Amino acid sequence: METYKEAWDLICDYLKNKRDNGKKAISDVAYNAWIGKAVPINVDFEEVCITLSVPNNLNKTVLENSYIEILKNASEEVLGTKFNFIIEVSADTSTELATPTNNDTPSDKYGDEYTFENFVVGKSNDLAYKACLAVAKDPAGLEVQNPLFIYGNSGLGKTHLLYAIKNVISKNDPSKKIIYVKGEDFTNELIDSLSKKTADHFRDKYRTVDVLLVDDIQFIAGKEATQEEFFHTFNTLYEARKQIVFTSDVPPKEMKTLEDRLKSRFEWGLLADIQPPDIETRITIINKKAEQLNIEVPYNISELIASKIKTNIRKLEGAVKKLHAKNLLNKERISIKMAHEVIAELQSEEVPVEITLDTIVDEVARTFNVTAEEIKSSNRRANLSKARQIAIYLVKDITNMSMEQIGNAFNGRHHSTIVYTCQQVEKSMETDPKIREMIHDIRKNLETET
Ligand code: ADP
Ligand code: MG
Repeated sequence: METYKEAWDLICDYLKNKRDNGKKAISDVAYNAWIGKAVPINVDFEEVCITLSVPNNLNKTVLENSYIEILKNASEEVLGTKFNFIIEVSADTSTELATPTNNDTPSDKYGDEYTFENFVVGKSNDLAYKACLAVAKDPAGLEVQNPLFIYGNSGLGKTHLLYAIKNVISKNDPSKKIIYVKGEDFTNELIDSLSKKTADHFRDKYRTVDVLLVDDIQFIAGKEATQEEFFHTFNTLYEARKQIVFTSDVPPKEMKTLEDRLKSRFEWGLLADIQPPDIETRITIINKKAEQLNIEVPYNISELIASKIKTNIRKLEGAVKKLHAKNLLNKERISIKMAHEVIAELQSEEVPVEITLDTIVDEVARTFNVTAEEIKSSNRRANLSKARQIAIYLVKDITNMSMEQIGNAFNGRHHSTIVYTCQQVEKSMETDPKIREMIHDIRKNLETET
């Protein structure tokens, strides 16, 4: 395999997974439309320059205008040197579009690498694995497994299993209509369809599938309109004996502001948890990832990494990728010293996700089904006032902003108003469990890196 292809793959991989404040820095849609369409045609290590080929002028313009800095920084991040980028439009776009290889763009292949075969099974994930495999082989075949609800902390393989289900079902029966959706995207799409008056379209889309896979369903907790819509979607599909699979970072009963009727629906089928892997499983995962990247990681090194990185498989994988990158680009042998560097780098990345005023306002806006601008405005509509109060309280509680700064950000309110608002919210949290739970859930969503 050419080195430049590998170098580009590392950059892509980095950008695909990069997160800012816990959210994807580049959405999947943007990634697939622009970065995923670029093909590396040369990497000049001496001139420090990467040449990319894109299918048309639009892609060239977008990459040049909006992504060059991102690409440069990514190259520095993963390759250790800031590369320049030259974007070229591939010579014959018409044939390019017509060739079957175009189907291989990441948009179609997204999630293809997530299979049951490359999922390492151990005590910690055995039940979830078996349940997912059973569902994949015979969707909606067993009533006790519908819905299937998988829960566990971030980075333990929930998304991997969902895609594995999707891949098996679509391979066994390409005519099956399968939707994979993130709880957050379901919410946004619903809000969007309500504001554009395309709710029917939304309904048709979700209520006519054979298999519905909802990843990170915890995001719909506390969002009333979304829960309502979801409840009906769920019932329609369930009654039509369609398979539904959820993932979440907590079991239904711990999703505080999830309506009771949804909670009980989610518990109708099978609940399976995923725990952090034990040391043997961690070592096996490292070896498996190394094998996939075609690198040799000696046993003492896998063991060292597995003994230091314990709770997150995404990080284990990150460690192997870093070894690969160093090995490839510095032509350095994989050694214990290198492993220590990699572990140190990963641990230093473990700064808590930074939660800003904007991320808080966005999350509250999503919860109340309003826009961030409305929350910051002076509109006194009842639900807006409530949303605003909660946002102000959370900003004061979570960020280091002063009362004056918060007041300024919320349409120039006086700092005494901010103080008063926070007191009001604290009071209502004492008396109203609903408010308390809602704030708890919003906070949790802000803190989860998904
Ligand atoms: P989650 O959705 O639970 O946050 P992901 O499914 O995104 O976690 O997993 C994070 C990364 O770890 C993915 O790249 C996935 O392929 C990998 N991974 C997780 N569990 C396993 C496993 N048991 N075997 C192999 N790879 C795994
Ligand atoms: Mg996930």
